[in-house]
Amino acid sequence: MASDKIILTGDRPTGRLHIGHYVGSLRRRVQIQDEGDYKRMYVFIADAQALTDNVDNPEKVRQNLIEVALDYLSVGLDPEKTVIYVQSQIPELCELTFYFMNMVTVSRLQRNPTVKTEIQMRGFSGESIPVGFFTYPISQAADITAFDATHVPVGEDQKPMLEQTCEIVRRFNNIYGEGTLTEPKIVLPDNAACLRLPGTDGKAKMSKSLGNCIYLSDTAQELKKKVMSMYTDPLHIHVEDPGHIEGNTVFTYLDAFSRPDHFAEYWPEYQNLDELKEHYQRGGLGDMKVKKFLNKILEETLAPVRERRKEYEQDIPAVYEMLRKGSETAREAAAATLDRVRHAMKIDYFDDAQLIAEQAKAFSQK
Ligand code: ATP
Ligand code: MG
Repeated sequence: MASDKIILTGDRPTGRLHIGHYVGSLRRRVQIQDEGDYKRMYVFIADAQALTDNVDNPEKVRQNLIEVALDYLSVGLDPEKTVIYVQSQIPELCELTFYFMNMVTVSRLQRNPTVKTEIQMRGFSGESIPVGFFTYPISQAADITAFDATHVPVGEDQKPMLEQTCEIVRRFNNIYGEGTLTEPKIVLPDNAACLRLPGTDGKAKMSKSLGNCIYLSDTAQELKKKVMSMYTDPLHIHVEDPGHIEGNTVFTYLDAFSRPDHFAEYWPEYQNLDELKEHYQRGGLGDMKVKKFLNKILEETLAPVRERRKEYEQDIPAVYEMLRKGSETAREAAAATLDRVRHAMKIDYFDDAQLIAEQAKAFSQK
């Protein structure tokens, strides 16, 4: 039996994609895509959402659209299997957002922990938050439900958005009819290190807006430089000192990327990550050695991505054409959902012959 799963995710074109995106969401998307157990898979570039906190920098969003598209193709998203589209090209999303706005209170939005953190990060203070940014969880609910998405593979920071979406769907269906909209499920990475990969500074999560990223498109030299200057354990000063694993970014990245066969290939002194961690904690293992190992693993992972990117960069008009076609396909799907929504909301006046007949009758009897 064919699967009825509809998979959907997106990324903001606020910069090139980084290894946090890769372990948090991209790697899973490609795996789901290639396993083929779905009815449809959508991946979109959230340019309209990116504008909510970049209103005075439209050029940034415009320039990064193609970068994100190239990142998608280079990690293995395939437009033959996945509908890749641009959010702003689907006006139905605005319409659905507009209807959803009536179902969410200001206090509910203020409770969203991810938005709270993001407001702080962006330095918005008091009531200076753009209304569009404040309400983006509502627009995200429209992004998801317009395509009847059942599964959304994202990083942990998206949990509050999915919860908000489910609340809206339940409220909507309760008022306008069960089954009108579909409640989505979040698909989180199964590896804890991938839920929210920290930045190379070890502080917050790796994020385009914080400048603490290893980009998928970094050169081998850039990658090495970033790995070698990564945050580790500040108390591990001399090689003999016992080291700490918790909060040690290098080990978090090894948790996210290393496999036993990496040890066999690059560091046969250890069988697996547990053995390496034990030695580090015991003392006698220097940071540089561990960083060199991490660099080899990341280089092995990223080199093919970098190579594929170079190939796609040779034909940029074809990449835009791919996005245009994907947006056309996506728009048809969203339009079908909006027809259903307008009908459920009783605002499909001109398609409702019964309404027109009843009104005609009522008025003729006046
Ligand atoms: P911005 O700073 O502009 O918000 P971002 O780096 O947070 O950019 P998004 O486009 O907001 O990236 O996120 C896209 C997807 O990648 C989401 O599913 C998000 O959960 C996931 N993601 C982003 N950063 C990380 C991270 N550090 N670890 C795991 N997943 C991440
Ligand atoms: Mg983000």
